Amino acid sequence: MENAFPLSPVYRGRFAPSPTGPLHFGSLVTAVGSYLEAKSRDGEWLVRIENLDMAREIPGASEEILNTLHLLGMEWDGSVVYQERRQDAYQAALRALEKQDLIYPCSCSRKEIADSSVLGIEGPVYPGTCRDRKHEPEFSGAWRLCTNNDLIEFEDAVQGIRQQRLQRDIGDFVIRRADGVFAYQLAVVVDDAEQGITHVVRGGDLLNSTPRQIHLQKLLGYSIPSYMHLPVVVNPWGEKLSKQTQAAPVDTSHPVLQLVKAIRFLGQTPPPEVSESSLRSFWIWAIENWSREAIPKNMSFMF
Ligand code: GLU
Repeated sequence: MENAFPLSPVYRGRFAPSPTGPLHFGSLVTAVGSYLEAKSRDGEWLVRIENLDMAREIPGASEEILNTLHLLGMEWDGSVVYQERRQDAYQAALRALEKQDLIYPCSCSRKEIADSSVLGIEGPVYPGTCRDRKHEPEFSGAWRLCTNNDLIEFEDAVQGIRQQRLQRDIGDFVIRRADGVFAYQLAVVVDDAEQGITHVVRGGDLLNSTPRQIHLQKLLGYSIPSYMHLPVVVNPWGEKLSKQTQAAPVDTSHPVLQLVKAIRFLGQTPPPEVSESSLRSFWIWAIENWSREAIPKNMSFMF
């Protein structure tokens, strides 16, 4: 990665959308929350396109997301990073973990895992069947990371103190999938570290992933950013807005109205005249009046 940010600032945040469709109200809330946290603290705000899984990428979605951010007046610092171009960095991290003898090849099927495991907080806990398996040179299955039962604790800026014991709650997790795609957990940690991210603000659906990321950060010798998880927007059936749940793209013909809706969702209380103001005046008001204390602690709610 080009080293556009040699010195770590006091605050460097990021927005990391997956280009599986256009920006919808749910991703707008995350973008706005991370942008306001950064800007209200005089920080930088970076954008990273998380297109690790090219099979899920919708052609043109990255450009559409970036264009929508631009039309909404959200300018990012530096150049956009694309995960598809970062395979060497992920491979290097995998090697560093291999050198520490912390990863192993695994060819268990989902069914085998489900049949022989207990339920953790995100489904079956991998029972460790392949832990002692030798590294075969031609192996083409998944790679898992060894976990342990040390307590991992962090203080989320909205959700408070969170704790997990990875081996008990999650199990040894995949860091490179059988199809060769690096897992989100590994890539996000490598990218956040290399981009010098100091503060991660993202959707509450990733709260339970954070201990896995902290575990990886420790093993790879990275510093640990601060975390803030925002409530997730769900539809009337309790499903997270996404392309799969047919979330509508953000309507950019009335940018300020969309932005006002997003900050209201985040507990902010803009006076009525803000809805009629220009984009520029909206952002001035929103940055000056941003209150992280007002962000609802619910993990999700409907809009
Ligand atoms: N790419 C993830 C998403 O679109 C976000 C990952 C992150 O912020 O850590 O949900």
